[in-house]
Amino acid sequence: MEDEWRKQIKESIRTPEELAERFDIPLEKIRSIAEEFPICITPYYLSLIKEKNDPIYKQVIPDEEEINKRKFLFADPLAEDRDSPVNNIVHRYPDRCLFLVSHSCASYCRFCTRKRKVSDSSKISKKFINEGIEYIREHTEIRDVILSGGDPLMLSEKLLEHIISSIRAIPHVEIIRIGSRVPCFLPQRITSKLVNMLKKYHPLFMNVHFNHPDELTPVAVKALARLADAGIPLGNQSVLLKGVNDNPETMKKLMQALIKARVRPYYLYQADMVFGTEHFRTTVDTGIEMIRSLRGWTSGLAVPHFVIDAPGGGGKIPLIPNYVQGMNDEEVRLCNYRGQMFSYQQPEKEEGEEGEHRIMQFKAIGL
Ligand SMILES: *Cc1c(COP(=O)(O)O)cnc(C)c1O
Ligand code: SF4
Repeated sequence: MEDEWRKQIKESIRTPEELAERFDIPLEKIRSIAEEFPICITPYYLSLIKEKNDPIYKQVIPDEEEINKRKFLFADPLAEDRDSPVNNIVHRYPDRCLFLVSHSCASYCRFCTRKRKVSDSSKISKKFINEGIEYIREHTEIRDVILSGGDPLMLSEKLLEHIISSIRAIPHVEIIRIGSRVPCFLPQRITSKLVNMLKKYHPLFMNVHFNHPDELTPVAVKALARLADAGIPLGNQSVLLKGVNDNPETMKKLMQALIKARVRPYYLYQADMVFGTEHFRTTVDTGIEMIRSLRGWTSGLAVPHFVIDAPGGGGKIPLIPNYVQGMNDEEVRLCNYRGQMFSYQQPEKEEGEEGEHRIMQFKAIGL
């Protein structure tokens, strides 16, 4: 049904009263939290909750910790606003920029990094969309535009097509990416009409956002297949969240379910230092352990890059388990996924040696 998604939006849970009653939470508590960052949950996503405080529940139902713990945390930890030359554009890297085109999302994640803006139409305003397009047109170094928000797929098809077709008409823009959590929160929105529009503007990529294997329902998998069938390469960005996906078994299941749904895991983010999200943060070694528990143990295609977006706005920094134990001009000492040690011999440094190509050797040490 083409219109099922409109019904989902219309029937979304938006009031503290509805949640208080359904999950038996003190109304006063959710009320004050919802004033800080609003509630919105599609009936579809709500139906995935099996019990109170499960990984689906935690992502969208307000928790009183949101207003309790606030030390050391920031509204804009990544200093995106500093790197915003015009409204709605974040231009931090040399050849690509973020273009915030929608203030709303199908549901609101309690851990949202951009909660200072998301849900507020005065902070991510449609008014500035044409200015954003103009900025991209004037900046010939931009070859990659990432549509974000909020969620770009919450826009009307007409406005979305206006944005995408205008950007596609700019000669120096090579690729367009859409960042969206709609396939997770509102998969019904991935209609053939939407997909037929999107596929006119290739090369177009999409990064979706799934955090838990229970989110890959048959409906979501079908929506992802539709996007993949339209030739849109799909990536996934997950956030490492305490109590949601911070154990190796859940993470492996999530990554395997994604790849099975034709989505290539792209980033696993360390939770940012955003106000009201302290209760979701894990230690950094938890994330490194996640990668250690994936690499080698399952398909390399299912292993994302674990990154921290540098506080203060330095960009994404990848963190990798320590597989290199030591290195000099002669030798690199390596440790594999099982913890076994290997030695890789570096090529000879001397010049002029006649055609003596050394055969590289891997020597297992102490096996
Ligand atoms: C994440 C991000 C990008 C895209 O980074 P990639 O590593 O190319 O995916 C671009 N601009 C900003 C501001 C970002 O935060
Ligand atoms: S979908 Fe993305 S932008 Fe929207 S609330 Fe969740 S994390 Fe924030």
